[in-house]
Amino acid sequence: MKTQNKKIESYFSHESLGGIELSKEEIKTAFLEKLFYGIGRIPSVATTNDFYTALALTVRDQVFKRYVRSLEEYAELDSRGIAYLSAEYLPGPHLGNNLLNLEITEETREALAELDIDLEALLEQEVEPGLGNGGLGRLASCYLDSMATLGIPSIGYGIRYEFGIFNQTLKEGWQAEVTDKWLHYGNPWEVVRPEIAFEVRFGGRTEHGKNEDGTLKVTWTPDSEVKGTAYDTPILGYNSNGIVMRLWKAEAIDSFDFSAYNMGDYYRAVEKKMRSENITKVLYPNDENLSGKELRLKQQYFFVCCSLQDIIRLHLMQGRKLNTLSEKFSIQLNDTHPSIAVPELMRLLVDEHDMEWEEAWHVTRHTFAYTNHTLLPEALEKWSVHLLGRLLPRHMEIIYEINRRFLNELREKHYTGEQIARMSIIDERGEQSVRMAHLATVGSFKVNGVSRLHSRLLKSQVLNDFADLWPSQFTNITNGVAHRRFLAVSNPGLAELISEKIGKQWLTDLPQLKGLEKYADDVDFRERWMQVKLQNKIGLARHIKERTGVELDPSMLFDVHVKRIHEYKRQHLKVLHILSLYLRLKNGKGEGISPTAFIFGGKAAPGYFMAKRIIKLITSVAELVNNDKEVQDRLKVVFLPNFSVKQAQRVYPAADLSEQISMAGKEASGTGNMKFALNGALTIGTLDGANVEIREEVGEENFFLFGLNTEEVQTKKASGYHPYRIYDRNEELQEVIDFLISGELENGNTEIFRPVHDNLLQQDPYLLLEDYQSYIEKMEEIHEVWRSPVKWAKMSILNVARMGKFSSDRSIHEYAEEIWKVEPVKVQLSK
Ligand SMILES: *Cc1c(COP(=O)(O)O)cnc(C)c1O
Repeated sequence: MKTQNKKIESYFSHESLGGIELSKEEIKTAFLEKLFYGIGRIPSVATTNDFYTALALTVRDQVFKRYVRSLEEYAELDSRGIAYLSAEYLPGPHLGNNLLNLEITEETREALAELDIDLEALLEQEVEPGLGNGGLGRLASCYLDSMATLGIPSIGYGIRYEFGIFNQTLKEGWQAEVTDKWLHYGNPWEVVRPEIAFEVRFGGRTEHGKNEDGTLKVTWTPDSEVKGTAYDTPILGYNSNGIVMRLWKAEAIDSFDFSAYNMGDYYRAVEKKMRSENITKVLYPNDENLSGKELRLKQQYFFVCCSLQDIIRLHLMQGRKLNTLSEKFSIQLNDTHPSIAVPELMRLLVDEHDMEWEEAWHVTRHTFAYTNHTLLPEALEKWSVHLLGRLLPRHMEIIYEINRRFLNELREKHYTGEQIARMSIIDERGEQSVRMAHLATVGSFKVNGVSRLHSRLLKSQVLNDFADLWPSQFTNITNGVAHRRFLAVSNPGLAELISEKIGKQWLTDLPQLKGLEKYADDVDFRERWMQVKLQNKIGLARHIKERTGVELDPSMLFDVHVKRIHEYKRQHLKVLHILSLYLRLKNGKGEGISPTAFIFGGKAAPGYFMAKRIIKLITSVAELVNNDKEVQDRLKVVFLPNFSVKQAQRVYPAADLSEQISMAGKEASGTGNMKFALNGALTIGTLDGANVEIREEVGEENFFLFGLNTEEVQTKKASGYHPYRIYDRNEELQEVIDFLISGELENGNTEIFRPVHDNLLQQDPYLLLEDYQSYIEKMEEIHEVWRSPVKWAKMSILNVARMGKFSSDRSIHEYAEEIWKVEPVKVQLSK
């Protein structure tokens, strides 16, 4: 299929691709050409979406220019590369970020203004790809951003879900889910690669025969097959290389299509096509919890199978041998979701490429690295042997063989039966199941946690047997965030103020923010700093008014709790606090309460009873508080529906206070905590996840700590926790808890929040009552500090100045050095 066209090649030589910097005039011309010829519109009938699409295509051309050049460079240098396997990505809107990375935001704004088009309106027009649930998907996208910027030759592989995470609306205060039709208006950022497509097989049976030389030959006869086609979205680094996010879409195998002669078969063929496409139809909306559904396993295997075949294709295309795969590629597994890659690579090497088991195992175990993202028992992935064996019979055999050899190794080391049962890839308790975290650990050369605390707990608890066996296999890489998107793009006011003082180097070197420390004592700087925050709050207040009808006074303390709704994240602890303030005000004991706007956002998994009830609780409290004349200018509560990256980019820059109040030991890292602090919000938090390291960096005097730490939580639980006793001894808490079932929240309905009430008094698995008093007292301290704007501003500036560690550039640098051993390849951009 490849055409050798020297003329085109010479046209695409580095020199002719020179002019990276675009002038205003060039942007205007290119934009108009896209509008006329790219989408065939005349201005008199063009819609905002037409303008957006024309601009996106204009920008995409520039992005592809850099991407193509990066690819050429990587191929020429035969460089070592990284494949990042993730079932989820949350890229957020592409346009603003690409404009920043091309450094043409202002030129574009001016070019459009000359055409009487407002850039902000076009940025607003973009529908983001919601191909992930929350933190894990957003992390994957932050990492692609940093891999591109640092010049790490890499590909991000994933799934092109036709329907991403649902859109959240509210119906009478309850969450209602609406299908996410993100592709409805087309997607100008992607290109389909019909020639990059692979077959993926399911079901059927295996036959064990012999090769001519007498070695074992296994053939797998599947009972269905689908095709995965690549859809490429270029991801640009800042003033740097481009890489690709390659997402697979499931389609019917061509040979199944329309080969029939009569109508009956024709319809059957169409049906088959539809069934094939089901695999990538929809993202499972469960965060931190797997539902064990067959289709989910199909999705995982589907994208892993396509990705590994693609990696092997790229490897062989460079003229290399398969036994050198691990020298040229590291494959990072983002959680266990892609861990079926371990037996799949074994299958490809042994069955399809006739490699010996031992050699194939050596290659496999030197290629994969695994990132663990959770300690929650309900989120540790397991698949029943029955289901896995039916869907992927050959993989089940391979898993058994990997396990057999692994357990033999343990026996040789004199492990006890109990230890062996604990470490086995197969869980024999109850219905037999495959422990995916064990499979990933046994099949990888490195395992990392995502914050220092999390990695320690991983080694001492969840995977402690493995850490004892292979201590050097375990490491920590603390998460980071794409600070260009979450500061430079989303908070241009603050970015500009920062650059004015310390220059622009922080865009690629976040620790440079340290240079802001000395301005914390500068009166003028502090005022400008808080002025930027105020402007951001005014913007968010306007947005909230449009979306919810609730009016917020921007001078209030903006106290923000946004993230997925989950009991361990304790949104309901925040609600207990709000109710305590409300009741104090009603009882005439409201002195010391600073006027506060409580802003919540986040989606609940559609089947998560308690999380959905917590949303209803928040909206009921909002209804009560916002309509009570007595507390009118003191408290406001809003639930901003449909938290997404786009919303996040509005919310973090406008927050005064960041709520990071999970029960210690449950949040692996968190990245919301980083995005808030980077935008000058102060944090109230527990010693959980990366909060520990944030506090260490910004200084304990600039962080509001409360609650039990991990060890205290564990001791408390081990010694028998009785929430009722705490309730019994704390009068204010009693009033608050009783209020939940008083009927005052929901027009006399006493039952609606009884499940929350009973859960707290009977089990309280996340220790809300235990941490309640400590939380309330810390909040009182916060309200006091808030009344001293100078103190608050200083703390805010020092927080930002000391957040340098939490760029995903730093995380990726550590992955590259410690795990991947890969050298950056910086493409020279001629200007
Ligand atoms: C950062 C981010 C998250 C993760 O937030 P946590 O507070 O770390 O749970 C979830 N969703 C979106 C849209 C984000 O941007």
